[in-house]
Amino acid sequence: MVRRDGVRGGVWVCTENGERFWGKKCVVTVGAWTTKLVKTVGGIALPIQPLETTVCYWRIKEGHEGGFAIGGDFPTFASYGDNYIYGTPSLEYPGLIKVAVHGGYPCDPDKRPWGPGNPLAPLKEWIEGRFSGVVDSGGPVATQLCMYSMTPDEDFVIDFLGGEFGKDVVVGGGFSGHGFKLSPVVGRILADLALSGEAQGVELKHFRMARFQENPKGNVKDFL
Ligand SMILES: Cc1cc2nc3c(=O)[nH]c(=O)nc-3n(C[C@H](O)[C@H](O)[C@H](O)COP(=O)(O)OP(=O)(O)OC[C@H]3O[C@@H](n4cnc5c(N)ncnc54)[C@H](O)[C@@H]3O)c2cc1C
Repeated sequence: MVRRDGVRGGVWVCTENGERFWGKKCVVTVGAWTTKLVKTVGGIALPIQPLETTVCYWRIKEGHEGGFAIGGDFPTFASYGDNYIYGTPSLEYPGLIKVAVHGGYPCDPDKRPWGPGNPLAPLKEWIEGRFSGVVDSGGPVATQLCMYSMTPDEDFVIDFLGGEFGKDVVVGGGFSGHGFKLSPVVGRILADLALSGEAQGVELKHFRMARFQENPKGNVKDFL
């Protein structure tokens, strides 16, 4: 819970185990819980939808591991089609490559369904079509479930909470499955907003919460 201190200003953060912390500023980066927390604290309904998604690792056939290795020519890729499929070079697990569907099914982060996971048939077909003979398309060797926090336009939310908190609470959320690679710059922007009330040289119009009031789908995009 986050509360305004009406007397000396600043913000109280109260944890579930009863601890209380006061600070001049507060930065909220709670991932899939953003919608719930922002609604409770600020009364704002943000359309950030938690999605349970599945990471899949596939076995590279013997003798072909070098072609998929990190540091070589194999790219991090996105394949736009009926399914949006992405993958990365082999890194986390020797001999395995990550190829998965970008997306998932809506979930409540406090009552995770932990399955059934994204359908595997489109992935198997895609792998068979692209990597026939070099990656085993029979099924993933390992799968992991985790959560996206998805906005309707898949753009981030980086903004002040406003209301009684003014510029004292900064929200960073809705990273829509592509926030990791930008975390250094997002972290800098969030820190700038908290420390000085602005992020110099960065246009944040795109990331405002209010964009969903103007258009429930958020930022309008043209795809050629
Ligand atoms: C399967 C998968 C693949 C991905 N692949 C990529 C990729 O290839 N490239 C890329 O750029 N991004 C990728 N992402 C997205 C990236 O991981 C996220 O955008 C990023 O982790 C979001 O960071 P975050 O800090 O908003 O949320 P999180 O990393 O989810 O962190 C939020 C934290 O807040 C904590 N929390 C929640 N509520 C509270 C509370 N009330 N008090 C205190 N703490 C709280 C949570 O426990 C959690 O630790 C992927 C995500 C997934 C799930």
